[in-house]
Amino acid sequence: MSSHVFGATLIGVEGLKVTVEVDFLRRLPSVAIVGLPSLSVRESADRVRSAMLASGFDFPRQRIVVSLAPADLKKDGTGFDLPIAAGILLAAGRLDPERCARYLLVGELTLGGELRAVRGSLAFAALARDLGMTGLVLPPGAAEEAALVPEVDVRIARTLGQAAEFLGGALELERARPGVAAPRSGPLDLRDVRGQPGAREALEVAAAGGHNLLMEGPPGCGKTMLAARIPSILPTLTPDEALACTRIHSAAGLLGGGGLVSERPFRAPHHSISPAGLVGGALLRPGEASLAHNGVLFLDEFPEFPRHAREVLRGPLEDRQIVLARAGGSTTFPANFMLVAAANPCPCGNLGHPTRPCVCGESARQRYRARLSGPLLDRIDLRVELSPVTPAVLLAGGPAEDSATVRARVERARLRQRARYGGAVASNAALSAEQVLQAATPTAAALNALQRHMEVQGLSARVGRRLLKVARTLADLDDDASVAVEESHIHRAVGLRLDDADALGAN
Ligand SMILES: [Zn+2]
Repeated sequence: MSSHVFGATLIGVEGLKVTVEVDFLRRLPSVAIVGLPSLSVRESADRVRSAMLASGFDFPRQRIVVSLAPADLKKDGTGFDLPIAAGILLAAGRLDPERCARYLLVGELTLGGELRAVRGSLAFAALARDLGMTGLVLPPGAAEEAALVPEVDVRIARTLGQAAEFLGGALELERARPGVAAPRSGPLDLRDVRGQPGAREALEVAAAGGHNLLMEGPPGCGKTMLAARIPSILPTLTPDEALACTRIHSAAGLLGGGGLVSERPFRAPHHSISPAGLVGGALLRPGEASLAHNGVLFLDEFPEFPRHAREVLRGPLEDRQIVLARAGGSTTFPANFMLVAAANPCPCGNLGHPTRPCVCGESARQRYRARLSGPLLDRIDLRVELSPVTPAVLLAGGPAEDSATVRARVERARLRQRARYGGAVASNAALSAEQVLQAATPTAAALNALQRHMEVQGLSARVGRRLLKVARTLADLDDDASVAVEESHIHRAVGLRLDDADALGAN
């Protein structure tokens, strides 16, 4: 009388098989679900009973024991509805055991017997493939995501009745086709941004060398507009990167049945976000730092982010991943993103404005400025100041350079880095303190110029190394494939930094 079917649950961005075993006992009719079910899993009993009756099945008048294994793993979500219902039908002799064993089942049931998608089906498809199973039976919406994994047979079941007929061998279900990403309406392009030549250069250097970037300037000078266009000048996603991004977005339930993530992500969380929202944690969902994997994490009004929120980002900036502890182990989320921060010159934003007066007190200004230093800012290589765009610039004729032209230069600079590091180092920004001098190969004049700048401005060795990294990227962006970092690269790198922060942060 006992039956086995297979469901799955998400651990971070990985799927894990859950065996659903159903037993009937000759006792008063009831349903017990064991194996660390959360409240939403325990409520499955009601949904399954109602869905089975609505679909024309008898509901066994016995005691039904559903056990979920592995028993020490906490089960959450509504995706166990389908395997629990299938387990009951299989134990009642209504399904084909051989077919049930070959397909992974995930889906939420409505009281009327329809199936609804749950998040993470791309990870479940990868799991089914890795387990050597034939495929999956999934609700519409989830099935199209799962079909992005080409090696598995994904079937779309709209109702419990359809799933049962398929698993009983009476009906062939429609095969899912991979979802297609909705074309983004009007892709963002640097062509739309007027003026701000300094910021445009900083954006290009940041993209070319993988450098983190801070933009300071009054409200309305275009910081957000510029940041949102960084993905358009980063190198095109490789197929592996696209799949990694899609898997994270699927696990977060953000894909909505769509296709592969085809553009680099741009995530811009508000400063009221919780630390768990930033790096994940709540129910082991990926946080913004993971959703920005292979793309840009933009923190607007950076000084307004609370200290704890800024601190949790130090780990992923260093390790390019996030490790979360959970009962029985830990879960790793990828989090390799470019950090772009923006700040106003003061809390009210008007400091230095030609006509609008600043209404902040001196101490408020100082507190605000102080938040622009510290361990997180030490990982930002580029700091640029933006001024308000004047009407004359806005009205000036001639289109600005477009993103495709800038991206071509960025990709060439990245190719040079790949040739130099052979994959051992991701980009110039990722060079270690020991590697940077050797990689930069500055000329004697360049080294002299760097030492002069450091002495005059009182810069630390660490800041000096960061200048050298940026100079390396500037050399990689040059037309002639010059091997060495020249003196001019050093001067330009200095121009891409704000001095007061260096003096404050020097150590
Ligand atoms: Zn102010």
